[in-house]
Amino acid sequence: MDHTLETRVAGGQPIGIDEATELWNEADDPTLTRLAGLARARFHPPDRATWLMMAIVNYTNVCVARCDYCAFYRLPKQDGGYLLTFEEVCARIDALVAHGGQLVGFNGGFHPKLRIGDYASLFQRIRATYPQLEFFEMTVAEFMYSCKVSRMSYAEGAKVLRNSGTRWVTGGGAEVLEDGFRARHSPLKYTVEDYYSAQRAILDAGMGSTATMVIGFDETLAERLAHLDRLRRFQDEVGGRLPSFLCWTYKPGNTALGGAEVSEREYLRWLAISRIFLNNFRHIRTSVLTRNEGALQGLRFGADDFDLPTEDEVTQSAGATISLEFGRILDAARSAGFDPVQRAPFGAAG
Ligand code: SF4
Repeated sequence: MDHTLETRVAGGQPIGIDEATELWNEADDPTLTRLAGLARARFHPPDRATWLMMAIVNYTNVCVARCDYCAFYRLPKQDGGYLLTFEEVCARIDALVAHGGQLVGFNGGFHPKLRIGDYASLFQRIRATYPQLEFFEMTVAEFMYSCKVSRMSYAEGAKVLRNSGTRWVTGGGAEVLEDGFRARHSPLKYTVEDYYSAQRAILDAGMGSTATMVIGFDETLAERLAHLDRLRRFQDEVGGRLPSFLCWTYKPGNTALGGAEVSEREYLRWLAISRIFLNNFRHIRTSVLTRNEGALQGLRFGADDFDLPTEDEVTQSAGATISLEFGRILDAARSAGFDPVQRAPFGAAG
């Protein structure tokens, strides 16, 4: 072990891409957990983990982006396409409320007819119906497309949402933010710099946002690290306003891309690299949605926070299974050596 590296990680200094590459290729699991633990301890007591309960409501599956890793979308006019009514959205939210949930994340597709004003008025109505809940109202990717449909700049679109009361446009739809990856799998979605210019407009309008990543397609280590590197720079550029980074794993079922899911060990090791590399992120979140109880081992690999999900059609249509045995999931966190504490949703200001 390089003690200089250990001291730098513990002190919150950034490590380089070459150092992360070496750690990924050569460090054993105890080394990674120790380094990730040092980075985690800058922000959190060693045995504490936090969670909240949420549902992802997929209000439409109509999408024109055609990402080859997606099992969820239907093209306009294709059989099986839907757009939920207000009442249907409320029925989904009622199910979360019955479980005692706290947060709803809305996630749909690139719907060619939904303008920013349509989202703003729908979400305004929903917020008024459920004042006790927090909402992640769109993802950055959907926001970008809807701004184009609305013929608005990102600044204008963000202003419309903010003025209607929107608090969060989260960093979903990011997968691997590297232009080579985007060209291979999702050429119609966005370019990396375009994504960050949209996210910057969202933050500058006074809304909150988050960072996400998905691994396990065919991305190279260099592409994964390029994602972390650009994200770390963006977080510095915006003064640390993104409160959290969530990584989950690609589910290959029913997708054009196909393939096999990455192993639990690979996921856990990537969480550790993310915690060590992203020295300017307070919360690193592990994905119960895609890894079930195995995700709780992620707390040993640098994560500090997780969701108890109640539904998400996007990952479920590609093979994710959601357990509502919340006690069992929390016991898995305890077995990993952590005291899981329910938390309130983050404040939008980060
Ligand atoms: S991942 Fe999102 S943007 Fe891509 S096809 Fe699926 S719904 Fe559309």
